[in-house]
Amino acid sequence: MFIRAFRRVAGADRSAAFMHEYAIAEALVEQIERVAREHPGCTVRSAVVAIGGLRRIVPDILRFGFEIAAADSAAAGADLVIEHVPIRFRCNGCNAESVVDEAIYLCPACGSGDVTALSGDELMLKSVDIEDGQDSGSPEHP
Ligand SMILES: [Zn+2]
Repeated sequence: MFIRAFRRVAGADRSAAFMHEYAIAEALVEQIERVAREHPGCTVRSAVVAIGGLRRIVPDILRFGFEIAAADSAAAGADLVIEHVPIRFRCNGCNAESVVDEAIYLCPACGSGDVTALSGDELMLKSVDIEDGQDSGSPEHP
């Protein structure tokens, strides 16, 4: 059913890309439900997720998938706040560290393509904002 809805907004040829985002959305909803269970009767207002540039997530598609995955769950109606984590890499030739937005691995200092990614692979639920007068929960909370 969600694929039909997706075709309406983005075209059938992108449904494979959507499945990638949807799987992530489902995992996020699961984590949010775990937090919500610790606060019975609460309403989840928003959730913040940090996603590295290497994940190649399309934020709008992830938000759309989240809306569908969250339906009938504790996360229904919650805003998904997506924090972009830039890609950092170190050049193995000259040791320079660089930060880029796209996954392009060429050292700006020496032009070498021999680089090691330091960050950008993040996919982490950072916080969940719930409405019951309590402060934010965390997925790591015992
Ligand atoms: Zn270099």
